[in-house]
Amino acid sequence: MKFILAIDQGTTSTRAIIFDGEGRIISKAQREFRQIYPFPGWVEHSPHDILSGSLSAAAEVLKRADLSAADIAAVGITNQRETTIVWNRRTGEPVYNAIVWQCRRTADFCKKLVSDGFSERIYNKTGLVPDAYFSATKIKWILDNVSGARERAERGELCFGTVDTYLLWQLTGGKVFATDYTNASRTMLFNIHTLKWDEELLRLFDVPQSMLPEVMPSAHEFGIIADGALKGVPVCGVAGDQQAALFGQACFAAGDIKNTYGTGCFLLMNTGDKPVKSQNGLVTTLGAAVGKPCYVLEGSVFVGGAVVQWLRDGLRIIRTASASERAAKRVPSSGGVYLVPAFTGLGAPYWDAEARGTLTGVTRGTNRYHIVRAALESIAYQVSDLVTAMEKDAGIKISALAVDGGASANNFLMQFQSDILNCAVMRPKVVETTALGAAYLAGIACGFLGEEQIRKNRAVQRVFRPQSSESLRLELLEGWHSAVAKARLK
Ligand code: ADP
Repeated sequence: MKFILAIDQGTTSTRAIIFDGEGRIISKAQREFRQIYPFPGWVEHSPHDILSGSLSAAAEVLKRADLSAADIAAVGITNQRETTIVWNRRTGEPVYNAIVWQCRRTADFCKKLVSDGFSERIYNKTGLVPDAYFSATKIKWILDNVSGARERAERGELCFGTVDTYLLWQLTGGKVFATDYTNASRTMLFNIHTLKWDEELLRLFDVPQSMLPEVMPSAHEFGIIADGALKGVPVCGVAGDQQAALFGQACFAAGDIKNTYGTGCFLLMNTGDKPVKSQNGLVTTLGAAVGKPCYVLEGSVFVGGAVVQWLRDGLRIIRTASASERAAKRVPSSGGVYLVPAFTGLGAPYWDAEARGTLTGVTRGTNRYHIVRAALESIAYQVSDLVTAMEKDAGIKISALAVDGGASANNFLMQFQSDILNCAVMRPKVVETTALGAAYLAGIACGFLGEEQIRKNRAVQRVFRPQSSESLRLELLEGWHSAVAKARLK
């Protein structure tokens, strides 16, 4: 009996999970790590913390399951995307902390790219909008600001990688310098049509080609782990977290779609072998597949489950995130109250950095349950706006939405989502779909699993079906859109 071990290297913690061939969780271990905020809007991680957390979580999960490296057929890695690390090719020592995807330090440079008219060229090649979120400007920042880094990079002495690449390099004792298509597609340096690093973009961002890893399919034998508890086990799967979740949900066919309800929300649709150009503020990116990557449309909501954290820690009107479900059910409706959680502006499809959080429709009869309910409903409304944008771009009507992430545990939210979308919402038994996706990719590449087995494994825990009348649905959506308009008033 063999197992697959997934390393899920997230933004606030690293999880190691062992799965069996049926996609069941055998054991889990988790390590939280430091968030470093040197200035307002800047976010860093220590690459040493990322590596040591991954190694110790992997060792612990093996111990908990009473297994050893010999029982593990392969390792899959999934990771926080876009986060940027530059290190010394000879020693493996990072020249600077990891600059995290959330970090806004290069926002001004990105604004200039937009005003200088580069948006369309960048979009046409990479499928992305010029934003500090993606890796390219973070690499440039390191080369421009760390003493001697640019000269060393030009002499070929430095390597750039997203977190998957750094972990692969370290785990294989510096032997493997590679990434996968999904991670490469988030750097803003990779041409998603030719599937190559783009020379013109490398010049635009001043990044020497010698710094870049080789780009491989997500299911591929990347290399053998050189040391530690997993010594001798091959790494056979790599994918960025959202694409791994799409794969873990078995969204293999064009039109398959999933939404993750975490701190933010991420809606991804597989569009098969055709990239779909968005007219509605979504990005086009590469998805994990066996062999050549598929194309994916992606939209994100900045404040998803985070609005529940705000109810708990900011307003303090609930004690725990899960208590939001009970509170919302205490009232039959939000009583005309809408909360637009535009705390850091609004993402797709509005892209309005100036919008701010807004509470509307409050009367003398409004109580905290209405506000909790309006907050949960706001998550569903934002996802509904993304789904509408995606339906317009892809030219299809979505009939079912696969869900995962922490807030997908909330039954009220899932039912309301189904009502407001007028489509079925399917919650799987294993909501750790990110780790599961990485495990599946690794399992396929090492011959332990096939796509058919994965489809069979897909166990739905609960299906939520629409129960609302069409007139109520439209009335609620209209109320939401007029609240959004108020949040955007300058
Ligand atoms: P991330 O991977 O982004 O850290 P998770 O998938 O772990 O996020 O989900 C955590 C988020 O989900 C938090 O923002 C939390 O407020 C929210 N959350 C967790 N459980 C519930 C629940 N039962 N109802 C509503 N929101 C929840």
